[in-house]
Amino acid sequence: MIDRRHLILAATAGAVARPARAAEPVRFVRAGRLIDVQKARVLEDQVIEIRDGRIVSVGPPPRGRVTGGGVLDWSRLTVAPGLIDLHTHLVGSDQSADPLEPLKHSAADDVLSGVRNARLTLRAGFTTVRDVGTWHGLADAILRDAINDGRVEGPRMKVAGAYVTRPGGGGEVTGLPAGQFPPDDMRMGVVETIADVRRKGGWLLDHGADFLKLIATGAVLTVGTEPGVIELSEDQIRAAVDTAAARRSFVAAHAHGAEGIRQAIRAGVRTVEHASLIDDAGVAMARDHGCWLVMDIYNGDFIDEVGKRDHWPEETLRKNFETTEAQRIGFRKAVQAGVKIGFGTDSGVYPHGWNARQFAYMVRWGMTPMQALQAATISAAESLQWAEAVGSAGVGRWADLIALGEDPMADIRALERPAGVMKGGVLVV
Ligand SMILES: [Zn+2]
Repeated sequence: MIDRRHLILAATAGAVARPARAAEPVRFVRAGRLIDVQKARVLEDQVIEIRDGRIVSVGPPPRGRVTGGGVLDWSRLTVAPGLIDLHTHLVGSDQSADPLEPLKHSAADDVLSGVRNARLTLRAGFTTVRDVGTWHGLADAILRDAINDGRVEGPRMKVAGAYVTRPGGGGEVTGLPAGQFPPDDMRMGVVETIADVRRKGGWLLDHGADFLKLIATGAVLTVGTEPGVIELSEDQIRAAVDTAAARRSFVAAHAHGAEGIRQAIRAGVRTVEHASLIDDAGVAMARDHGCWLVMDIYNGDFIDEVGKRDHWPEETLRKNFETTEAQRIGFRKAVQAGVKIGFGTDSGVYPHGWNARQFAYMVRWGMTPMQALQAATISAAESLQWAEAVGSAGVGRWADLIALGEDPMADIRALERPAGVMKGGVLVV
């Protein structure tokens, strides 16, 4: 459906005329300004031509009238590629004060929460996400498939299927009385040996996971684990990398501690998540290995504020304090060193749809607005092995676009308020 608000074009716009009618597919988007993330420049007055959901041409308005209808007028707006968040948790309930909260929700209940969260995320301008963990194994794949076949409104998803974690590790629901464990469907990725990693990792990839998410060190939000402590061995991580590579996939490794980060990079992971306590050697290693860092430098403030207000466990607040500032300092060093950075926020810890709040932090901690936008578009797409599909408004990509009332190159917070969102040539808002 085409929203009437966007159809102020017609004769005044000149070359591209004839506004689209409702229910007519968008064939042309007229962009007042278009952010070209590939060449790090902003183009004026561009027309994006769309066929079958994909971009077939981009350039200045053609001479004469374009006939056939389907024109979306964003001539007064700044248009950017749809945003990508590499670290979401769309499926399940939001983080709460109760470490046992995930046990109160069935897989079906979690997927229904995911339906709401997917919609909020897409409408916030995030047309693609990499979803890095669900408590009930493969519930994320159900949501992904429902979005792909049009039953649910949401972003394109690549999903992890489950957390590959050691027993009682950062990817488990912890805090149960001794001798009790969560149900089996919440332990699909629990591994003890290298053989477990190969078997369970391979099984997940063969049954719906798009990549593997490893919990290589302890976690801020999992009670009884410590961010600085290594939880998977380098050989286990390497086994996961090999298992994924054999299926043309990759590994994303959650790692906070400096040693855990270096070990994950050495083992060949594609992205390191959080990287909170990264040291100079880790920064250099990430740069030299071409490993992306996905550093969620916004949510520490959210956890501090809401966690204190709502009485989250003291342990969580302590670990959050120990990682928040350190992570931002590490982020700045990584930017200065030229490490590849992918935009990822840990949504689900904070409310879904607030993802773009992290951009201002990335600019405050050393990126230009263009670099921050590239981290959430072209760079994120490359890390996803989707560079040919998403991440720029280039020919051949899906027509995933957002329109902004203000210029994000002048005020990055403009990305928090998209005036329009298109996914695959279909106007969402
Ligand atoms: Zn996470």
